[in-house]
Amino acid sequence: MQSQNPIFIPGPTNIPERIRLAMARPAWDHRTEAFEAFFGPLREDLKTVFGTEQGEVVLFTGSGTTGWDVALSNLLAPGDRVLATSHGMFSQRWIDLARSLGLVVDVIEAEWGEGIPMDAMESALAEDTQGAIKAVLAVHNETATGVTSDIGRVRQAMDQQQHPALLFVDGVSSIGSLPFHMDDWGVDVAVSGSQKGFMLPTGLAVVAISERAEQEAAARTHPRGHLDLGPMLKASRANSYPWTPAIGLIGALRESVDMLMEEGLPAVYARHTHLAGGVRAAAEAWGLPICAKHPALYSDTVTAIHVPAPHSAAELVAHANRRYGVSFGVGLGPLSDRVFRIGHLGQLTETLLLSGLATAEMALLDLGVAIEPGSGVAAAQGHFRAVIAESQEQIA
Ligand SMILES: *Cc1c(COP(=O)(O)O)cnc(C)c1O
Repeated sequence: MQSQNPIFIPGPTNIPERIRLAMARPAWDHRTEAFEAFFGPLREDLKTVFGTEQGEVVLFTGSGTTGWDVALSNLLAPGDRVLATSHGMFSQRWIDLARSLGLVVDVIEAEWGEGIPMDAMESALAEDTQGAIKAVLAVHNETATGVTSDIGRVRQAMDQQQHPALLFVDGVSSIGSLPFHMDDWGVDVAVSGSQKGFMLPTGLAVVAISERAEQEAAARTHPRGHLDLGPMLKASRANSYPWTPAIGLIGALRESVDMLMEEGLPAVYARHTHLAGGVRAAAEAWGLPICAKHPALYSDTVTAIHVPAPHSAAELVAHANRRYGVSFGVGLGPLSDRVFRIGHLGQLTETLLLSGLATAEMALLDLGVAIEPGSGVAAAQGHFRAVIAESQEQIA
């Protein structure tokens, strides 16, 4: 049976009532002036969410992975070299996809829980005096470990070396939840999906393309399949589609973007920081270390929390689901039995999150993990109330 409980996984995220209602629409013909009039303003507003004025946003049917593929297969041909960091499951999967497309990937290996290592990035770029590296792949928010990397610094490192590579950024679990500045950071392709910060079901790859990336994609002659940006950008600019759009999701995306705009993007980002602080306070009170190595790396959309041996993090997640009907994120790859993840992005409030922390606490206690009952919830309450007290002082 479908539970009414919220989910606490870092995607798919909870779907707000407004968005659910927006999806309950009859069939709609996309080859109409009405669709064109609808699609133009949506594309413009999406640019604002991505922090771009010069770029274009396109919607491919698919998921975040499709967005990775759009970036790789349009701008790179087999044999081309790219530079990427492996520091979690998602950064590694993007590398795997690049290899499967015949690209040569220079991998900077970093410990899971670390961000993109800037020193290694700088020296890899400095050594490449011939400009053989055609693109840098950077995961803004590594969802497997709860680590946010500084994309502005990646751009700085590239500029310092005057390196001509394109910059591709995975913003799947950050865009719409964490500040994202495509133009300021000189991002050439930014990738997101519908089921994380946009609070929709899975089904859309939301991809922003810079002017430079568009020109380079157009200039390249290697064959590409149906993810070809050429026809997509051409149709998009005419507020139309080269094939049948996922129109139900696109209609609901309007609602999602309205919600983000009504709250205001700075307020959305501040809410994520505020809620994340509550989760981190809870983990600290439980005495359970979080996976991200330094406070500067802490993600405001997902926290990976270590479960001490001999307890199994996988069993914890399964138990919480079975017993309480609440989902937390499992650990991925080498962390599969070592961490559980609390997703705190999208439609969440203090109240919803407290229910998740209270449930996590019950599940931890059920498994016999030595935590103080109520300690995490109390710490999160303290965090939330302290911020409120502070802002009331400012008003007074
Ligand atoms: C979820 C996620 C993906 C993969 O997206 P899918 O929608 O599952 O294809 C890629 N990167 C990051 C950082 C993610 O969080």
